[in-house]
Amino acid sequence: MDIKDIVGKRFPRFGVNKRQEIARLLYEISKKEDVSFECIIDGVLRGPTKFADIKDYLTRRRFPRRTASPGRFTAYLPDLDLDPSKKASIKKRKINPKNIYADKKSEKSPLSIRLKKAFPRADFKTITSLKGYIKDKRFDIKDHNRRRDNFFVVREGYDFFKHCPCTSKALSCGYNIFNLGFGCVFECAYCYLQEYTNSPGIILPSNIEDFFKAFKGTGRSLRIGTGEFTDSLALDSITGFSTMIIDFFRRHPDAVFEFKTKSDNIKNIISAKPADNIVISWSLNPQSVIETEEHHTVSLERRLDAAIKCVKAGFTVGFHFDPILDYEGWEIDYKRVVDQIFSALDRKTVRWISLGTLRFAPALKKTIEMRFPQTRILDGELAPDFDRKMRYSESIRIEIYRKMLTWIRERSERVPVYLCMENKNVWKSVSATSRKGLSTALL
Ligand code: SF4
Repeated sequence: MDIKDIVGKRFPRFGVNKRQEIARLLYEISKKEDVSFECIIDGVLRGPTKFADIKDYLTRRRFPRRTASPGRFTAYLPDLDLDPSKKASIKKRKINPKNIYADKKSEKSPLSIRLKKAFPRADFKTITSLKGYIKDKRFDIKDHNRRRDNFFVVREGYDFFKHCPCTSKALSCGYNIFNLGFGCVFECAYCYLQEYTNSPGIILPSNIEDFFKAFKGTGRSLRIGTGEFTDSLALDSITGFSTMIIDFFRRHPDAVFEFKTKSDNIKNIISAKPADNIVISWSLNPQSVIETEEHHTVSLERRLDAAIKCVKAGFTVGFHFDPILDYEGWEIDYKRVVDQIFSALDRKTVRWISLGTLRFAPALKKTIEMRFPQTRILDGELAPDFDRKMRYSESIRIEIYRKMLTWIRERSERVPVYLCMENKNVWKSVSATSRKGLSTALL
């Protein structure tokens, strides 16, 4: 029987909102503790009878650390809305789009030609424009799940690069986004791109030369990268973007360009002439997290092997522990990854390491739950925080960052370490942990 029906039967005198909150708490406790709803309800029915007391009992059980801390805690308890038909496919399969759409200005572009060669069985269609194509259509989670079937090659008109919006009230690291494509072929349970389920597929620009032209107009030094709205290298063997980017930025040494990836698609990179201002970065997590939460990406071992190869080819590398997850035993797993980095690489070749704990917009909670019902990330004690995003409590975050910084500093005093999307108080508390704390100057 559905959990909402069970709650309706067992608590018939409660109104709809109260039943929803109880169902939500029961669902989360049952998942986190791996016990049946019935078992939890039987325990509840032997205890308090008032709604406020039942909710209090369930909230304390679901969020033991939050409710034990001083101050008032309000849990975020949206209606439970599970729909098995919206589950994401996590079965490994090759990238093989069924449809490739090119707008009129892109149909004869080098990128369209490369895609035709790479995917000869795909159905190629010309569309007037992406805007025209999506105009009368509505996309939802099911379309998002099928996005690898539909590639779009479009001529980008103006949205070439921008300052990273970071998050409100956070200390920015000064990053800039080279907006080279939208949509990712990987399936990370926590990915914020799931907020954009109204997107029709994987969008690739056909006019990279216009991005370079737009960049020339800025005349200032900056830190810039492509990995915000897509993985920088997941499709690089097809797009060949990295070769052109390296070639361009070699001639612009004021800018530091970063490729950010969870792939080991580095063939083009290691064939290119290296440049000091090009950094190849990997997002890292323990292998157990990669297996359960970062579907279709490559293993930790393959990411580190790729980093070693890039260093051998003359590039410097970066690492992003983002998102760091809080679970029982996280310390052992994450410390091991820090040690693996410094055992594999000369510390002088590591350009920077960033740290960022799990965070996402509250609306994403239901999407994640629907797409990845097996995920463990939502079992954490998350609640809206300083920027209204779901986060671990500030004290948990500070503890995580302090430990991570200590382990990194044990291996390297010099590598710049910074926090991604964190507030000033957290920066200050974490930086004070070690003599050489966090870095704000990354250029
Ligand atoms: S690799 Fe990055 S962009 Fe791709 S699904 Fe994972 S989090 Fe999202």
